[in-house]
Amino acid sequence: MTINLNEDSAEALLIWFRVHGVSYPWAGSSDSLDVWGIWVSEVMLQQTTVAAVEPRYRSWMKRFPSPEALAAADEEEVLREWEGLGYYNRARNLAVAVAEIRTAYGGRIPEEPAELRRLPGVGEYIAAAVASFAFGKRRAAIDANGRRIAQRLSAREIWDKELETVFRSAVEELMPLENPGEMNAALMQLGQLVCTPRSPRCGDCPLALCCLARLEGRQESIPPRRRQEVIQKKTRLAILYDGGRILMRKRMKGIGKGLWVFPAESEIEGLEKWWEPAGELSEQIHAYTRYREVLQPRIFRRNDERGTAPVIGLPDTNFFPLEKLQELPMPTAYRRISGQVPDILNYL
Ligand code: SF4
Repeated sequence: MTINLNEDSAEALLIWFRVHGVSYPWAGSSDSLDVWGIWVSEVMLQQTTVAAVEPRYRSWMKRFPSPEALAAADEEEVLREWEGLGYYNRARNLAVAVAEIRTAYGGRIPEEPAELRRLPGVGEYIAAAVASFAFGKRRAAIDANGRRIAQRLSAREIWDKELETVFRSAVEELMPLENPGEMNAALMQLGQLVCTPRSPRCGDCPLALCCLARLEGRQESIPPRRRQEVIQKKTRLAILYDGGRILMRKRMKGIGKGLWVFPAESEIEGLEKWWEPAGELSEQIHAYTRYREVLQPRIFRRNDERGTAPVIGLPDTNFFPLEKLQELPMPTAYRRISGQVPDILNYL
């Protein structure tokens, strides 16, 4: 199997990038790039769109401008700052990695991809991206955009080890000696702006002449689309309000580990007995992995006439003053719900 990338097409790609490439806050000329910023942005961009990353990146870098600043923060602060990006393991891994950098590398971010890969959460892609963008190493960083482009250039429906090896060596051979990361950035942006998953704009593509899928008229069907079943569910949430404080539950496992949420009505022992409904908040959609969960929140007030304090019967919970909710890390949909709580309490 071959890929028709040659010096002319590589040159055309770089020229296209210099004219049409978008400048992101984490990009710049190679000598002004900040290693920490590059690493953070690449971790954020895995599984999250550029549009969602941009504002969160600025805020994160303001709060944690260096690995040392992150290493000094506690986990709740780190997760709070990651809010809106999802897949919170990435933030936890970053925090563990900066601690390792301090102990194993004297606080210096390693340059070699093999060393970078030993850090938690750093796979082949992030190692290559950091090594090429920040340290000028000729390493191809192949993300989902690069894989799609490679499949179309070779008209291959599947991405496998053989295609990866051929594409990787073609890209690395054609990377410029000076600022090789520019080739990685150009491929990523070509995938974001031109060779898009649907309706690729082949007429504007600098690689059109060497693209087999386009020559065969198969660019729309490569790679084949996978249909993923979405699992719908509904959850009624109980927002228990007691003397100015709200009950929250901390998730102790799963993808939302460490985040605080409102408990489900079904989780509260004796809900009807000890608490009385006091109002409904608007539904919110909580989408994660294959799930689309409709959250239906209701506020409940302590039923004072019942006397004795109710037993919640749920571990890892705590009543927090309303103003403290701002500081707790929460999934985005729960954050939206918490934003509605003060309004409705004004009417109680
Ligand atoms: S010619 Fe079309 S399908 Fe081929 S790489 Fe360019 S945009 Fe993608």
